Amino acid sequence: MIKEYTKEEIICLLSDEKNETSLLKQADAVRHQYVGDEVHLRGLIEFSNICRNNCQYCGLQRDNKILPRYHMEEDELLQTAQNAVNMGFKTLVLQSGEDMYYTQARMCRIIEQIKKNDVALTLSIGERDYTDYKAFYEAGADRYLIRIETTDQNLYHQLDPGMNWQRRHECLLMLKEIGYELGSGIMVGLPNQTLDSIADDLLYLQKIEVDMAGIGPFIPHPQTPLKNANGNNLHLALRTMAMMRLMLPDINIPATTAMESLHPRGRIMALQGGANVVMPNVTEGEYRRLYELYPNKACVDDTPLHCRTCIGMKITAIGRTIGQGYGGHKK
Ligand code: SAM
Repeated sequence: MIKEYTKEEIICLLSDEKNETSLLKQADAVRHQYVGDEVHLRGLIEFSNICRNNCQYCGLQRDNKILPRYHMEEDELLQTAQNAVNMGFKTLVLQSGEDMYYTQARMCRIIEQIKKNDVALTLSIGERDYTDYKAFYEAGADRYLIRIETTDQNLYHQLDPGMNWQRRHECLLMLKEIGYELGSGIMVGLPNQTLDSIADDLLYLQKIEVDMAGIGPFIPHPQTPLKNANGNNLHLALRTMAMMRLMLPDINIPATTAMESLHPRGRIMALQGGANVVMPNVTEGEYRRLYELYPNKACVDDTPLHCRTCIGMKITAIGRTIGQGYGGHKK
């Protein structure tokens, strides 16, 4: 389902700080009408912070030599997944830097093991080739999450040196063609990013008909070249997310951890402004702190059980219910 907005209308709504409350209210009403009051929980496992890329905004960039690196071994990852299944999660998300230790064969083994449980499985492990994506899908992965980050190709090439925007775009098309439920998204508040380009981003996500769109504020990381950049624009991120709900009324939209990291009620504000998904972190121990995309990441000192209980209470306190199914995109 698509609702048409012109680029001018989108820019106008994004720039209208005074009417943010009414934009979020409108998105909340659309969310209620199209996807109901259930909030779907996804158990997020951050299984490796090793990355071959050097994205200028990201704390996991390979030039960040201060960050201690880890990857879980297969049995550890499977145990973490099992613990999340035992806690009742119906979707698990495996996320990592681009760590090639996780070969096609290794990933397929992991996927097959996890899929013996009654869960939907999302991968978020970056750019791979067609044969890998196809093999992961055939092994049982259901969804794939890869943000386009920005559709401003000049900006993308500045921020992601050595990477290629067209290649990332092609990854999205391949994933869709293979049959995955497709998640993508952007960061908001990047240096030199304009409202014009955010409007293009929204139109792009609408055009490729994503099943899920994650929109998060850019948060400068002190160990990256963008350490002194502005960012932290929670309100623009919320307006962008609300706009996405108006443009794609029936997709899944997460209340992102980056929003929660900027405000203790960030995810609740998002859930009341168009979002219908939360991804509690089920990574255990020290790894939570080491998966440092940006500073002051929410919930790094908590346990998986604490996160699950805490978000459950917050969701019910605003009159919403926790989804009991897989929470896929209902078209
Ligand atoms: N490597 C995979 C990929 O490229 O899709 C998944 C992991 S990647 C670290 C997850 C997301 O974190 C990125 O898509 C990016 O949008 C977000 N991210 C990275 N650095 C960030 C920052 N400083 N502020 C906000 N979000 C950030």
